[in-house]
Amino acid sequence: MSQKFDVVVIGAGPGGYVAAIRAAQLGLKTACIEKYQGKEGKTALGGTCLNVGCIPSKALLDSSYKFHEAHESFKVHGISTGEVAMDVPAMVARKDQIVKNLTGGVAGLMKANGVTVFEGHGKLLSGKQVEVTGLDGNTQVLGADHVILASGSKPVDIPPAPVDQNIIVDSTGALDFQTVPAKLGVIGAGVIGLELGSVWARLGAEVTVLEAMDKFLPAADEQISKEAFKILSKQGLKILLGARVTGSEVKGDQVTVNFTNAEGEQQQTFDKLIVAVGRRPVTTDLLAADAGVDMDERGFIFVDDYCATSVPGVYAIGDVVRGAMLAHKASEEGVMVAERIAGHKSQMNYDLVPSVIYTHPEIAWVGKTEQALKGEGVEINVGTFPFAASGRAMAANDTAGLVKVIADAKTDRVLGVHVMGPAAAELVQQGAIGMEFGTSAEDLGMMVFSHPTMSEALHEAALAVNGHAIHIANRKKR
Ligand code: FAD
Ligand code: AMP
Repeated sequence: MSQKFDVVVIGAGPGGYVAAIRAAQLGLKTACIEKYQGKEGKTALGGTCLNVGCIPSKALLDSSYKFHEAHESFKVHGISTGEVAMDVPAMVARKDQIVKNLTGGVAGLMKANGVTVFEGHGKLLSGKQVEVTGLDGNTQVLGADHVILASGSKPVDIPPAPVDQNIIVDSTGALDFQTVPAKLGVIGAGVIGLELGSVWARLGAEVTVLEAMDKFLPAADEQISKEAFKILSKQGLKILLGARVTGSEVKGDQVTVNFTNAEGEQQQTFDKLIVAVGRRPVTTDLLAADAGVDMDERGFIFVDDYCATSVPGVYAIGDVVRGAMLAHKASEEGVMVAERIAGHKSQMNYDLVPSVIYTHPEIAWVGKTEQALKGEGVEINVGTFPFAASGRAMAANDTAGLVKVIADAKTDRVLGVHVMGPAAAELVQQGAIGMEFGTSAEDLGMMVFSHPTMSEALHEAALAVNGHAIHIANRKKR
């Protein structure tokens, strides 16, 4: 054994690098192993999130939204421009530069905190030993008192649409188109499909989203998902529900996709096709046969509420374990595990992990939906406020959507905050902070909100729960 550590982390995504930094802060001798090679052929830390996920997708969403605004809404503000053009390679290069800055920043943070980074593939052996196969193929074995598995996830492949990263791409390929496809197909109306579909639709692609399920965004509150379907469809995203892709054929520069829907067999031809049908845990060559770590029936590493695996001293966090595949969930699990290793009693509130879809308007929520609460037989009061009645939203010419606050009818405790609209992610976070401290709708209503802000819509929705909204007629009078 060449070196011995208190903690060895496999994977440097938002789960792994955060866990490693927190462990090192707590005085533990920590190593982190990462195998990913970025675009420049060098090891890049930050995982899916920084390299090919959250950040690059948001960079393209922001660029494409600015183009869309210049094209479609500047004139509302009285601004006229010459012809507005999009330089797609420049947009993609800007995204690459952001990725480079952030992944380099993580490397700097690791160094500043004294985390030893190993470049290569990590594999857990028995007895909490970890084998590292370097980029040159040489192996070494690290000893560890504690091991954190943070190997993340990768896109699901489906046999009817095999990815070639040219005509048929996954989410990674869809971040690197060098031209706007005239006709773009997207399989899957989940978060990734809607975000990437929006990027290219804003730049002029005719986008068709094929979704096997009959229901749109089933995890969201039904009132919000119905509103979202209307607004996104009006923006030009053609979302076909109940459309199951059964096959595809690439011919020259195009792909013909076969799918079935209520009307029977259908066919459409696209210039590019994005396969966005979900992600699966990465466990390839991660565990030696005698490592002793149990998996669940879906291939995730089995863990308890504190991310402990079946092997004492071995933990797993992030996309490779149960729960939402979200960067902030991975990071908080990383912090919890590092602190528990250091002897703290840290825990995580899985009920308050917010979800965000970065379309425009954004869709975000925290806590429970109206349909889930009704299903559980909980009596609730609901308050809503449309952005169409918000002065700030009108000033910004950004009035689509609403805020919805759901509270327990008996205690007034807020159980869910659901938003489609401008700054939805930020508003939902305010709701999450309140909910973490057990806020009631009345508490939120009594707080002073700056005027004029988008946040006032949250204030008014909270007031509306008990019929006290000022800037909209209350459904319920008190
Ligand atoms: P990962 O980020 O996948 O990192 C795992 C790392 O481990 C990788 O770098 C991998 O190379 C490395 N690794 C794996 N096996 C080994 C091994 N054996 N040895 C060494 N290294 C190994 N989430 C959000 O919260 N917000 C968003 O807006 C958002 N947008 C997204 C957009 C897209 C297009 C995609 C694809 C994902 C998005 N996500 C978003 C999800 C988010 O990226 C993931 O939930 C998050 O990255 C999971 O973190 P992780 O640390 O568990 O795994
Ligand atoms: P998510 O897991 O949120 O990224 O969403 C992926 C979406 O892809 C889900 O809504 C699935 O129903 C959808 N999906 C999976 N397979 C197919 C398929 N063959 N055709 C169309 N949609 C699919």
